[in-house]
Amino acid sequence: MSENSPFPGDKIASIEEYEAGNNTFDDGDMVRAATVGQIDMNKTTRVANVNHPKLLSIPKVGDVIIGTVAAVMSSMIAVSIDYINGKPTTSKVECVCGTRNLRIRNVALVNDIVTLKIVSHINGTIHAAINEPELGILYTKCRKCGGKVVSMRDAIKCTDCAWIDERKLSKNFGKYDFVKLRE
Ligand SMILES: [Zn+2]
Repeated sequence: MSENSPFPGDKIASIEEYEAGNNTFDDGDMVRAATVGQIDMNKTTRVANVNHPKLLSIPKVGDVIIGTVAAVMSSMIAVSIDYINGKPTTSKVECVCGTRNLRIRNVALVNDIVTLKIVSHINGTIHAAINEPELGILYTKCRKCGGKVVSMRDAIKCTDCAWIDERKLSKNFGKYDFVKLRE
């Protein structure tokens, strides 16, 4: 119980002394860790928490993130966050970004790399915006053949099959080599 960096299931406190808080559970007798992390005993509220390192990797409003498109829906995309303000994160927190107002047919494809700005946290969901020049797709592939694409104003053209498609491109599209990031 003196261990400050628990493993899941480790005893943290007796339920007579503390209530289970973040990342902990109450087994009817003891408060136990639900995750690895740092124990944080709040002596004022008598709540025992485990601060998971992932909690540090949740972006704040105004942060610029780079992530991988995890899902594309009719009016939004879901993005798994890889970088926050240029710093890598391994926590795989997701944000969502509305795309309804863009009037672009294929704003993004799954596995595209995109840069977004965090605009709000609503009911635990992180919302991001894509509608600024530097925001948008940084890396994408041809939807038909998976080939390399080049930008032509707001459109993209496949260098292999010549398919022309739309994306919401960042003005920084094509400036980075994301091959390493994808591995
Ligand atoms: Zn192609």
